[in-house]
Amino acid sequence: MKTNVNRFSPILIALAIALSMLLAACSEANPASQEVVAAPVAAISDTSIAVEPEPKPIEAAYPDPEAASAAPEAPPIIQEDAPAVAASEAVKVAETETAAPPAAIIQSQDGALTDAEAAGLLFMQEEEKLARDVYLTLFELWDFQAFANIARSEQTHTDAVQRLVERYDLPDPADGQDVGEFTNPDLQALYDQLIAQGSQSLPAALEVAVAIEEIDILDLQEYIGETDKEDILQVYNSLLSGSENHLRAFVSALERQAGAYQPQYLDQEAYDAIMSASSSKGRGNG
Ligand code: MN
Ligand code: MN
Repeated sequence: MKTNVNRFSPILIALAIALSMLLAACSEANPASQEVVAAPVAAISDTSIAVEPEPKPIEAAYPDPEAASAAPEAPPIIQEDAPAVAASEAVKVAETETAAPPAAIIQSQDGALTDAEAAGLLFMQEEEKLARDVYLTLFELWDFQAFANIARSEQTHTDAVQRLVERYDLPDPADGQDVGEFTNPDLQALYDQLIAQGSQSLPAALEVAVAIEEIDILDLQEYIGETDKEDILQVYNSLLSGSENHLRAFVSALERQAGAYQPQYLDQEAYDAIMSASSSKGRGNG
């Protein structure tokens, strides 16, 4: 230690003089920078490494330009690195995408519902429940994982519509209803028919699922056209995006089992548009 100090003492003295001149200059020009420059002085008296500390205050003195230039670049890199969605993973993607809507509901109470809006909410809550109940039942029958995954997604859809039903003080149509039980007689009949059909074979079960998603998309489009309430529109659009993901997933599974599929409810143009869209389309459009 002492030999080091003795050996470098001429350099240290020269540095000390230079630093004291710098300090004097800086304290006149900018009191704030005095602390920054003062730090290396302590380092010099301790060790022979007197040069290293100096670049650090310079970096610290200009943190903003670097931070500003670095920050905007990061998010696009993450998005570009997002893995492409394989057909086999479409189900998982659909599940994660549709988990968002309930938390994202906008608080808006701009007026009472029209009869059409009220009827739409009550119907959609039960239609989402029907999808959930059919997929739960078909999963028990066929042990096909997509049914379990998408049933969870349909649970979040049902919950999202139910929150709207509660918000607008409508009677909860699912109150006291078990799996496979519905207040709306048309949906009860549809459920019974779909389960009978889906019990025939796994391809038949997947055809049932595809039919549910096609019908769900058409109904959502109809009810979207009948409301201008932002909170309802946001939920319906989230459900629509989820249904399009579900349709792609179920059609993909069905075609692996039974060959090419043609739409039964959607018109060909609308069906082609949905099928050709990427599963990640819904992310950007919210
Ligand atoms: Mn749904
Ligand atoms: Mn669905």
